[in-house]
Amino acid sequence: MKVLYILSSPHGGSTLLSLVLGNHPVIANLGEVSFIPKLLAIQGKCTCGDMLAECSEWADVFAELQSMTGVDMRLSPYELYLGDAIQAKGGSQLDKAHQTNWRRQLAKFRSLIDRAALRAPSWGGIGWRTLPSIKKSIENTMQLYRAASTAWDKEIIVDASKFPRKAIHLYQQYPDDVRILHLARDGRGVTTSRMRYMDALKAAERWRHYHQLTRDLLKQWVPEEHRMMMHYEDFVKSPGPAMESLCEWMGVPYQKDMLEFGNEIIVHSAGGNPARFNISGGIKPADEKWRTQLNDDMLQKFDAIAGKLNRDLGYE
Ligand SMILES: [Zn+2]
Repeated sequence: MKVLYILSSPHGGSTLLSLVLGNHPVIANLGEVSFIPKLLAIQGKCTCGDMLAECSEWADVFAELQSMTGVDMRLSPYELYLGDAIQAKGGSQLDKAHQTNWRRQLAKFRSLIDRAALRAPSWGGIGWRTLPSIKKSIENTMQLYRAASTAWDKEIIVDASKFPRKAIHLYQQYPDDVRILHLARDGRGVTTSRMRYMDALKAAERWRHYHQLTRDLLKQWVPEEHRMMMHYEDFVKSPGPAMESLCEWMGVPYQKDMLEFGNEIIVHSAGGNPARFNISGGIKPADEKWRTQLNDDMLQKFDAIAGKLNRDLGYE
């Protein structure tokens, strides 16, 4: 089994990409794995429309995981710690009973320590500086991947949880099995698309923070041959060639059927909402709304916050 872990900012296109990947016969798209405990706890849905705890496909995964670990996630969602996956306070689908103030503080504390550890020079490797709780969360996550790979008989597992530090730890603990895909999208496009519900400058700042952290961590901890960068705009413009090179890199034969979707998309992944994507008519090129929706003043402000990184990522 191999794992492809996707890193991309919100509105970066990872849901669409993982949907396409999951359409390949040897690949399973699990969705946002880090949020599976929460989805189970709040009786959230699988993308097939059933409750995740009641989805018949996932039942096989949870049964397999139970035989491996003794834990039935459906009955005890948080018993296997998969790492902190704290959500914004006002966000939808919060598990308020679990995400208490105390847990938020603990997660913040853990994240500060981990970030400092990962950003210090690599001397002596990563093992000694990794918190035991984080090591355990990586082992548990790997068990869940293996359960899915066995239950569904798939060679490759896709996790679109998008946590940069988790990607690093997964790779460092399982360098033979884990590969990282950094999916970038023009920061001006992401900002425009998030403007509907958040302050544009905040969106630009978040975008910059996410991709800067991702770049720095990948450069320090993941050798070039084990990570790949993809531009969302290239993927949606020419999905065939983009998937061909991704498949080649992952060592699986490219299947052009993976780009074919019927009217009814039935997929079983955690989180994300395929109903948002009407791709039965094919994948559409990226819209260029930012060119009209960001005025000169906004563009200047964006440039001051994130212009350099945007250019470094290949956007002029
Ligand atoms: Zn399902």
